[in-house]
Amino acid sequence: MTLTAAGSAVRGGAGFAVHDPATGEVVGTVPDATAQQALAAVDAAVAAGPAWAAAAPRHRSEVLRRAFELLVARTDEVAALITAENGKAAADARAEVAYAAEFLRWYSEEAVRVPGRLSRAPGGGNEVLVRHRPIGVVALVTPWNFPAAMATRKLAPALAAGCTAVLKPAEQTPLTALLLADLLTEAGVPAGAVGVVTTSSPGPVVDAVLHHPAVRMLSFTGSTEVGKVLLRTAADRVLKCAMELGGNAPFLVLDDADVDAALEGAVVAKMRNGGQACTAANRFYVDRRVAGEFTRGLVERMAAVRTGPGSDPATGCGPLVDRASVRKVERLVADAVARGARVLTGGEAPAGPGSFYLPTVLADVPPGAAVLREEVFGPVAPIVVVDGEEEAVAAANDTAHGLVSYVYSKDLARALRVGERLEAGMVAVNRGLVSDPAAPFGGVKESGLGREGSSEGLLEYTETTYLATSW
Ligand code: NAP
Repeated sequence: MTLTAAGSAVRGGAGFAVHDPATGEVVGTVPDATAQQALAAVDAAVAAGPAWAAAAPRHRSEVLRRAFELLVARTDEVAALITAENGKAAADARAEVAYAAEFLRWYSEEAVRVPGRLSRAPGGGNEVLVRHRPIGVVALVTPWNFPAAMATRKLAPALAAGCTAVLKPAEQTPLTALLLADLLTEAGVPAGAVGVVTTSSPGPVVDAVLHHPAVRMLSFTGSTEVGKVLLRTAADRVLKCAMELGGNAPFLVLDDADVDAALEGAVVAKMRNGGQACTAANRFYVDRRVAGEFTRGLVERMAAVRTGPGSDPATGCGPLVDRASVRKVERLVADAVARGARVLTGGEAPAGPGSFYLPTVLADVPPGAAVLREEVFGPVAPIVVVDGEEEAVAAANDTAHGLVSYVYSKDLARALRVGERLEAGMVAVNRGLVSDPAAPFGGVKESGLGREGSSEGLLEYTETTYLATSW
């Protein structure tokens, strides 16, 4: 597969291979950018910046709208590419393309609605004129688990706000980012305004970009561990930071839950992308009164999910992204079992090729198990039986993370009351999916800073300025 990248994407020089996690085969080769080449991409974004910032909001809106339409029209091709380099099941890949495209559509609509404010100073001496202007050149760093959606969730609001950008996609999934850059160029994004830097040296390359004097902001999605490193680097130049970091989502099934609905939501929350989502349900706290029924139902549903190559339409769970991910899941399951947990289905990695792990349900998982503390990032559902709402809420909040929580109860007032007590940026009430381009996505505690999506997501790419005006 040969792909060329648009704008200021780095071309030529040494390359590195991208592998299909289902087979281990090479699906493409991309340039391996050096820090010097990344700085050239920043220079190109700097050069493109003033004209893009000065363009009429309606123009930026229409470019994004065209990009939305182009991406939707190329759904099959982009979904196949996502499956080839990430491994996810075809249905997940198509859903991701739709989700990724919606950020382009949403921000084409938001581009013409950037707010401002005019008010009289309380003392009466002057007017307070408040504007949100584009922050300038932004550095975007994305993970491999949603190669298209994590890119458009940043690029669309950045471009809508009038910023230009350099995007560093994950090493495992750079092909989708390159294809998106081509598509943005076709839609009318000017040369240099979006540079894609593919590299096998993320540390030095991102470090150089963040120290470029023109870069004003970092938007990062990835692990809390790497996020903390980048926050320290960003401090050198006091960069604005938007950080979407790791999760450890609790899934609460209260004693009055509709168990069938909870099971349906549990499979969605656990199995999207084979469990490789920051929003993936990581720990199931189920009230003793419904625990038997819920556990039996989850085992039945998880055992019925077919594992296989994402390209096979019958596949419900594709491979994990690499062998290291399989080893991590094996370690977490082994630790839980050593502490007394029981494997009710799955619990093993099928023989290769490919980096597969079977959908797994663990029961009797004790509080000290690592699987309850670390992000599993795989198709493993650990169940903990709790007695009552208080115990469920206390267990759910016993984590440094706070991205998303799920709660099921037939009593909506109760579910909302519990939802308000959960320390998370997002709470799903009686449903297994929260992500929506129109909603503010993000975490509290060590799950992040700032929000993506919604109107908040655009304002992240602006800085608030105020003119004290006498007239
Ligand atoms: P990761 O290892 O933190 O990598 C994320 C990105 O950072 C990749 O582009 C990676 O490049 C780059 N990177 C790695 N080390 C770096 C360094 N020292 N300096 C600069 N950049 C560096 O995370 P991941 O494994 O790709 O993704 C999984 C994590 O992302 C999970 O924790 C998940 O919860 C989180 N996530 C969060 C959200 C959210 O919205 N909150 C959404 C999706 C995923 P390389 O690929 O070259 O290593």
